[in-house]
Amino acid sequence: MAKILDGKEVAIKIKEELKIEVEQWQQRGINPCLAVVLMGDDAASVAYANFLQKVAADVNVKFHLEQLPKDAEEDYLLSVVDKLNQNKKVHGILLLLPLPEHIDKQQVIDSILPAKDVDGVHPINRGYILSGGDCIYPATPLSCLEILQRYGIGIEGKHAVVVGRGETVGKSLMYLALAQNATITVCHSKTPDLAYHTKRADVIFSAVGKPGLITGDMVKPGAVVVDAGISQVDGKICGDVDFENVKEIASAITPVPGGVGSITTVMMLKNLLKGITMQQAFVQ
Ligand code: NAP
Repeated sequence: MAKILDGKEVAIKIKEELKIEVEQWQQRGINPCLAVVLMGDDAASVAYANFLQKVAADVNVKFHLEQLPKDAEEDYLLSVVDKLNQNKKVHGILLLLPLPEHIDKQQVIDSILPAKDVDGVHPINRGYILSGGDCIYPATPLSCLEILQRYGIGIEGKHAVVVGRGETVGKSLMYLALAQNATITVCHSKTPDLAYHTKRADVIFSAVGKPGLITGDMVKPGAVVVDAGISQVDGKICGDVDFENVKEIASAITPVPGGVGSITTVMMLKNLLKGITMQQAFVQ
């Protein structure tokens, strides 16, 4: 039976560390502040903004919400982001998606200062992942690696199979895992025999969004399985992995919910504090 890698426990630990770091910034006269830009009233985005506000409060990070009407012009949205870029009391900017159809999402992402891009989505931050530079990495791929690290599971020299090459998770995760000296195989929807690859993996990272995609017979005994997938089945949140069967075969596994997804928000707040260090370097 696999060890269950508990994301909630890890999040509690990271929150304790964040609180200390926030206090250190406050002693230096800097009050870490996250700004969230929400356009329209998409229910999931509103719920996430409320959740973020609570988690930020837990670690004494200030929270600033910019809520724009759904029909606001793109120029207005860009001017709001520009003001947040210029505002020295704001240290991170999170643009909640989806945006209304009349908005060019990439244009808005490109307008966020890379050092305030807590989501690690700006092309400069994405580019630094390839070059191995120190930058702000996206929170979900970071969380996949952080949960392993917190449980003392190293991936150096291991064969890691990343299932999914999506822009949010898989594509960045493959480079971050490579930087930790894993040997990487990347699979996607055009991979003819997924099981052939996953059965040879020491570590499987799944980031697809298809419930039950990774079944017990696709996993090598003793492998580590990290499930970043999120789907809803009959109103219940589940991952890509057939958890009940795979947990009998793997040596360690993240549950969904309660695994990777439980850490992503605190990792984003970690990014906020990293961004402050980067912003300080610019002003010195
Ligand atoms: P995405 O952009 O939709 O990418 C999905 C990837 O899965 C694509 O690369 C696709 O291949 C691949 N795929 C589809 N069917 C497949 C199959 N049968 N076998 C192998 N690969 C297959 O997704 P994303 O935005 O990166 O997100 C991935 C998952 O992570 C989603 O479930 C999302 O909800 C979840 N997520 C979780 C968190 C969190 O906090 N835990 C945060 C963000 C996202 P192609 O490239 O060939 O199309």
